[in-house]
Amino acid sequence: MTDVLTPVLTANWADDRAWTLAAYEAHGGYQALDKALQLSPEELVELVKDSGLRGRGGAGFPTGMKWSFIPKDNPNPTYLVVNADESEPGTCKDIPLMMASPHTLVEGVIIASRAIEARQAFIYVRGEVLHVVRRLRAAVREAYEAGHVGTDIHGSGMDLDIVVHAGAGAYICGEETALLDSLEGRRGQPRLRPPFPAVAGLYASPTVINNVESIASVPAIVRGGVSWFGSMGTEKSKGHTIYSLSGHVKRPGQYEAPLGITLRELLDLSGGMRDGAELKFWTPGGSSTPILTAEHLDVPLDYEGVSAAGSMLGTKALQIFDQTTSVVRCVLRWTEFYKHESCGKCTPCREGTWWMVQILRRLDRGEGQPGDIETLLDLCDNILGRSFCALGDGATSPITSAIQYFRDEFEAGLTTPSAELFPPSASTLF
Ligand code: NAD
Ligand code: SF4
Repeated sequence: MTDVLTPVLTANWADDRAWTLAAYEAHGGYQALDKALQLSPEELVELVKDSGLRGRGGAGFPTGMKWSFIPKDNPNPTYLVVNADESEPGTCKDIPLMMASPHTLVEGVIIASRAIEARQAFIYVRGEVLHVVRRLRAAVREAYEAGHVGTDIHGSGMDLDIVVHAGAGAYICGEETALLDSLEGRRGQPRLRPPFPAVAGLYASPTVINNVESIASVPAIVRGGVSWFGSMGTEKSKGHTIYSLSGHVKRPGQYEAPLGITLRELLDLSGGMRDGAELKFWTPGGSSTPILTAEHLDVPLDYEGVSAAGSMLGTKALQIFDQTTSVVRCVLRWTEFYKHESCGKCTPCREGTWWMVQILRRLDRGEGQPGDIETLLDLCDNILGRSFCALGDGATSPITSAIQYFRDEFEAGLTTPSAELFPPSASTLF
């Protein structure tokens, strides 16, 4: 694997006023759109299919294949919805992308809309990040004024409107069908799938929902071509992607690299662990993916490599923890998050996350009871695969994996508070 960064999406983030149309066009922005407008929708879908681009929101579903599911003979309008509700703990790639280079996303939206023949696109942004909403709205306004969006785009006859919609800040609205409910003006709760949104999505019409980074990757693929994209990454996980590193590293931030890079290489790029810090455990893709340990420093960070190691690539949010971190307390924090964000629609997740928090809190206080670890595992077993959506499943991952690797710390929670074993004053973060 290579040890170099592959800046594509992040290439011009440091430029002066990089978010403006002028700065974007100075680097060839909206030229991919001209190229895309020369291609038929079918040719565009094939191009993205052939590129091997896989969804960058976490699940890794092939983007071109998703586009190809849009029924051809449907009388209803087709919609494109960008899932910009980034809220997975530790995940911090879409928001920086939208702040630094919103036109990359807007250009991707126009090209994707042409591919699926949508005349209306929505960008659904997490409610709390008003600065991102404002920046996106300014970029969309600039794109309208320049004739990149609106009617008869670049004289091609293509019409498209883009709406930037601010959600109300619920994690569950990042689940694609809850997002659709929220966009339609209802309380966001997951819908039964199938039918998948590609068949019956927004207003029961065919809808493609893609993550920000997936859509923003499309202009570069149109410009550079399939072979260029495929020259990065691995056979089944092609291209470049943004990894977000946080925690006990010297230079946390976004690192764009080929899929398949390892944590060891990313740590080299980010200056390594903080002084005095030793890697204890880490997440490959936010808190919904099972934790890994120092044994896994050389696992290729692609969809297949991370799965083979017993976890998931997910959102590529690498949260790095050192020896001063209490695993029990860390897992408790994540579980409190899932309990708070559980939408309450199904019993295993709604009740299970509540009970898991109660048990983890007493283990954290050093007041655990005999059998608590087995009860935790039993709860996870009853949530995993029995919940209505991925939130419930995700809530079990940190617990089961943490018990697998650090059972002794959970056992210590029967007698000793985490704060005694891992005093916050000893943390290398402060
Ligand atoms: P999924 O695998 O069920 O679906 C992935 C995508 O493929 C969806 O868009 C779905 O509609 C489509 N799809 C799958 N099968 C299909 C079929 N047969 N026909 C048509 N379309 C089909 O995953 P999911 O439940 O949508 O998402 C879970 C992922 O989200 C997790 O991997 C997690 O890492 C990630 N996640 C991301 C964030 C974030 O902030 N980015 C937050 C939470 C979770
Ligand atoms: Fe709601 Fe949790 Fe059930 Fe998903 S798993 S539908 S978030 S209660």
